[in-house]
Amino acid sequence: MVEINKNAQLSQHLTSSSVAALGHSSELDGSHLTPHFTLGELCKTSVKTADGNIPSHVHIENLRRLCRWLERLRKRWNERYGSLTPNPSPKGEGNSDDPIVINSGYRSEAVNKAVGGAKGSNHLTGCAVDIRVAGMEQLLRYAVILLDIADEGREDFDELLMERNAKGTYWLHFAVRPEGNRRKIVFLRV
Ligand SMILES: [Zn+2]
Repeated sequence: MVEINKNAQLSQHLTSSSVAALGHSSELDGSHLTPHFTLGELCKTSVKTADGNIPSHVHIENLRRLCRWLERLRKRWNERYGSLTPNPSPKGEGNSDDPIVINSGYRSEAVNKAVGGAKGSNHLTGCAVDIRVAGMEQLLRYAVILLDIADEGREDFDELLMERNAKGTYWLHFAVRPEGNRRKIVFLRV
């Protein structure tokens, strides 16, 4: 029963995500920050604001840094688990090509305000993404992979926040700053 629900949620997520990406109007949207992530995906928002949620060059560099982490997350996820199965696949490792789905990346001040984002949020500088997860299991696995990547590469991140809202939806907020990363790891109920 739980598995069926997860699958239903996933297909909804994938559909709505691609529709949203296509619906975004800027011609820069299709440009790739890294092989699997476009600027459009990292700037999409359901909120309409006068500023159009356009990042500066500095913000784009921050997004690109973040996407390099997301590429490694994507690769390792597919090598280890793939296909969003509730349990690691006993066979066919490495054959999967699951995407990492971004709920929210860069947010202008106006967008951040409209969605109730925190003041001084890392989203404002393009240093943070909210990553969609199918549930608690995928949330934990993503978090573990990102911690492994940090340790192996001796790189630090600023925030790894495992968040859950009142409806019981989980997501992972992950942030990397150009410097001054605090390696903050927290479970949050929002
Ligand atoms: Zn966030």
